[in-house]
Amino acid sequence: MKNLFFLFILFGFLNVFNQENPINLDPIERLERGNQRFIDGKPSHPNETALRIRQLKDGQRPFVTVVSCSDSRVPPELVFDQGFGDIFSVRTAGHVIDDLELGSIEYAVEHLHCSLIVVLGHTHCGAVKAFVDSKGDYKHMDHLKSVMDFIGNEVEEKRLIASDSLSLEKAIDANIFHDVHLLRSSTPILADHYYSKKVQIIGALYDIETGKVRFYK
Ligand SMILES: [Zn+2]
Repeated sequence: MKNLFFLFILFGFLNVFNQENPINLDPIERLERGNQRFIDGKPSHPNETALRIRQLKDGQRPFVTVVSCSDSRVPPELVFDQGFGDIFSVRTAGHVIDDLELGSIEYAVEHLHCSLIVVLGHTHCGAVKAFVDSKGDYKHMDHLKSVMDFIGNEVEEKRLIASDSLSLEKAIDANIFHDVHLLRSSTPILADHYYSKKVQIIGALYDIETGKVRFYK
């Protein structure tokens, strides 16, 4: 009987230890573990039950805001193996950020107390490729021009063009850091939260061929 009790305690301990999303886990580590499950082909699909949906009816407390591309190959909940209520998601082609997106991100930080923002770029990004192909001089007068203008409106991207060393890989990285710098310096909300260490703001790159996310810590 005593042994049975011991096994019961041990099983309970291991079960807690193996939980996909222990609440005391660092939010970046939580994303890394979820991404590893995804890569291994063993997603646990946490927080996708009807119970979870009902638990969230009165409010949400996402542990991360992911700013990512609208690209259909980069759905954050699948890439990080998360569920309802876990990720506050802001997505535009090329993860460009204007006032409307900033308002959404500020809402997540200020009102939902989200303590981590990840700017998630990805390999083979079509929006960045269009920018690179046009060498920063997109001619068409459609609304995609606004996306191109944003991508090109950053020091590193201008330097790459000026030094004739613009490549898709370099431009994708530059576009990630463009957003990271923009968010860290955005007043009045995000800069204050970032410099007082209430929120972390980091970049990451998703490889659409392997599924791996590399964080720029
Ligand atoms: Zn993209």
